[in-house]
Amino acid sequence: MGERKGTNKYYPPDYDPKVGGLNKFLGTHALRERARKIHQGIIIIRFEMPYNIWCDGCKNHVGMGVRYNAEKTKVGMYYTTPVYQFKMKCHLCDNHYVIRADPANLDYVIISGARRQENRWDPTQNGQVVPETKETQKRLFDDSMFKLEHGSEDKSTSESAKPRLAKLFNRNEETWSDSYTANQKLRAEFRRKNCEQKGLEEKSRTLSKKSSLDIPLLEENEEDNRIARLLSMKPAKTSEENSVEIRARIVSECLLPSANFSRKRETVAVKILESDKPNLGVVLKRRPTAEEEADVKKAKTNVSLVGDYSSSGDSDC
Ligand SMILES: [Zn+2]
Repeated sequence: MGERKGTNKYYPPDYDPKVGGLNKFLGTHALRERARKIHQGIIIIRFEMPYNIWCDGCKNHVGMGVRYNAEKTKVGMYYTTPVYQFKMKCHLCDNHYVIRADPANLDYVIISGARRQENRWDPTQNGQVVPETKETQKRLFDDSMFKLEHGSEDKSTSESAKPRLAKLFNRNEETWSDSYTANQKLRAEFRRKNCEQKGLEEKSRTLSKKSSLDIPLLEENEEDNRIARLLSMKPAKTSEENSVEIRARIVSECLLPSANFSRKRETVAVKILESDKPNLGVVLKRRPTAEEEADVKKAKTNVSLVGDYSSSGDSDC
C-alpha cells in the first residue's frame, strides 16, 4: 500500500532536516501513487459498490460490495457536507461508471455508465414473507410471552395467505399440466417469428443487391418513411428562385393572344411569302409589324394572308 510508505521512519543518510519533512526531502506526496492526479483535484481511493448495478457497456451485473480503484473528486456542497463523485472503470469492459454521493437522501446516485438494480421496496408491503430480524429472534428466544403472541400472529398470517397461494398454485397447474400443448404453442410462436425474420432478411438482401450496397440494412421504420416522403416532396428550387424564373418568363412572353408564335413558324411564314406560290393554308398567328403590314397591303391583290388579327383594329384582314 503506497500510502503507508509515507509513514515509515527510514531517514536516508543524506537527509537534511532544513528541507522539511521526509516527503518534502524525497519530493513525494504522502499518498504516493494514489495522489498522482492531485493537481487535478483527484485522489484515488478504494470504492465499494453500494448496491447492485448493471454495466451499460457490457450489460453485466455487478454485485454490491465489488471494490474498484476510483477517482474521487469533490463536486459541490450539501450545506456543510462535501459532495464527492467517484469515477471507476468496469472490471469486465472499457466502460466507466460515475457515481455521486447524495447526502440529502443518505444514498449514492449513478450519474452515468450503469443502471441501478431497483430493490428498494419494502417486501412486507406486497405480502412477501421476510426472515425475522436479529432483534426479534433474540426476543423470541428470551421472552416466552412474546413468543406466544408472535406464534398466533404467524398463524393468522398463514391463514390469510392460503387463498392467494392456492390461486397461484392453480394458475401454475393450468399452464404447465399439459406440457405437450405448452411446448407446441411455444414452438409454433418460434416458427412464426423465424419465418418473419427470414422474410425480412430476404427482402433486405434483395434491396442491397439492387442498390449495390455492402452494409447491413435496418428494419423499416415509420419515422424514417415519413422523413423520406418529406424529403422527396421538397422543391428543388426555393420560392424566391421560382418567382424570379416566373417573372423572367412573363417578361419574355408576348402579351398578345398570338402566344403560340415561334421563330420556327416565322421562318416558315417568310418562306411561304417569298415563294411564288404561297400556301394559303398556313396560319401566321402574330401581330404584324408596320413593315409586314405594308408588305401585306402590297401583296393583297395576289396573296390572302390569313392571320389572327382580332386584337389589332388597324388590320385590314
Ligand atoms: Zn462493463
